[in-house]
Amino acid sequence: MLRLPWFDYRAPRSVAEAAKILAGEGPGAMLVAGGTDLLPNMKRRHQTPKVLVSLKGIESLRQANGTLGAGLTLSEVLKLEKIPAALRQAAAQVATPHLRNMGTLGGNLCLDTRCTYYNQNYEWRQAIDFCLKKDGDTCWVATASKRCVAVSSTDTAPALIALNAEVKLEGAEGERWIPAASLYQNDGIEYLSRRPDEILTAVKIPAGWRSTYWKLRRRGAFDFPILGVAVALKFSGDVVDEARVALGAAASRPFLVEKASEYLKGKKLTDDVIAEASTLLANRAKPMDNTDMDLYWRKEVADDFAGYALRELRGDDMRATRLRVARYAV
Ligand SMILES: Cc1cc2nc3c(=O)[nH]c(=O)nc-3n(C[C@H](O)[C@H](O)[C@H](O)COP(=O)(O)OP(=O)(O)OC[C@H]3O[C@@H](n4cnc5c(N)ncnc54)[C@H](O)[C@@H]3O)c2cc1C
Ligand code: SF4
Repeated sequence: MLRLPWFDYRAPRSVAEAAKILAGEGPGAMLVAGGTDLLPNMKRRHQTPKVLVSLKGIESLRQANGTLGAGLTLSEVLKLEKIPAALRQAAAQVATPHLRNMGTLGGNLCLDTRCTYYNQNYEWRQAIDFCLKKDGDTCWVATASKRCVAVSSTDTAPALIALNAEVKLEGAEGERWIPAASLYQNDGIEYLSRRPDEILTAVKIPAGWRSTYWKLRRRGAFDFPILGVAVALKFSGDVVDEARVALGAAASRPFLVEKASEYLKGKKLTDDVIAEASTLLANRAKPMDNTDMDLYWRKEVADDFAGYALRELRGDDMRATRLRVARYAV
């Protein structure tokens, strides 16, 4: 049985108190929300914080009044009436019902990056002399690389980037809103731009987008994404006014695919336009050989998934395709 390492547990009642603890404890402290990712990681000694600062007792993080509190569980998010389709589809496909009952929106957005050589127990990693991301000095995926290329595996982040959402970070020195896309850095170790004392407290999503999220994974019942395509569009009649296309699980960060987004503006979603936009998106997918399934196939599928998403937003009935790729409809 894998056991948790020893740690001190702090249970602040307010964001200010949590930020003060983080600032005071320094790099030895970590936030825990639902714990569905962090606690298994701690058992495998990926993270070994001396102090865990729980967000569970902070009531203000659970509000859904114009903005979404980062402490809402994914199941709570799914019960809200007015959330955009892309976020609903992404949240509904995270893990399993039990994990969605515990896992929070904030935890999902701050999820650790993943890699075949990292998501293993301590002894497994010790046998390969560890790796750059934790305790070692070689990246086994790209041995010449000085940078860890572990994969961003959050489902809700690409959806929120496509929706042009903003996230609120609150720390000991104040608060700031930043675009969801700016929360991420293309570095498997330093994958977030948040300062160590900052807490992601809320998410604000502008209205008016027609949106969708398509996820590739091996098992439809649960599995991390190995590709996520999120698209949000605004229309004038049948012409695309604004477009935002985002990719997840295709790099160490989820990101906006600017060329595909720009290309779609001012166009009708004809088959040719969809094909060209899908190619532009797939060109930006650079999967590495560090997650499930063949990387060349995953790149090819990015083209197909962008096509599915755009056809769905055009109004095509994609339910059968969703069933085929995800094994269940959301
Ligand atoms: C079997 C299994 C399958 C899974 N499948 C998926 C999947 O398909 N898709 C997916 O996206 N995830 C998946 N997960 C991961 C995880 O369950 C979810 O991402 C969940 O939403 C994480 O939320 P949490 O509250 O449990 O995060 P925690 O485990 O509590 O925290 C995760 C990280 O975020 C940090 N953090 C938490 N809250 C905040 C905050 N408010 N501000 C700043 N930092 C914060 C923590 O310090 C930690 O580094 C899976 C997990 C398991 C065990
Ligand atoms: S990408 Fe390289 S450094 Fe990063 S976790 Fe995988 S093997 Fe380790």
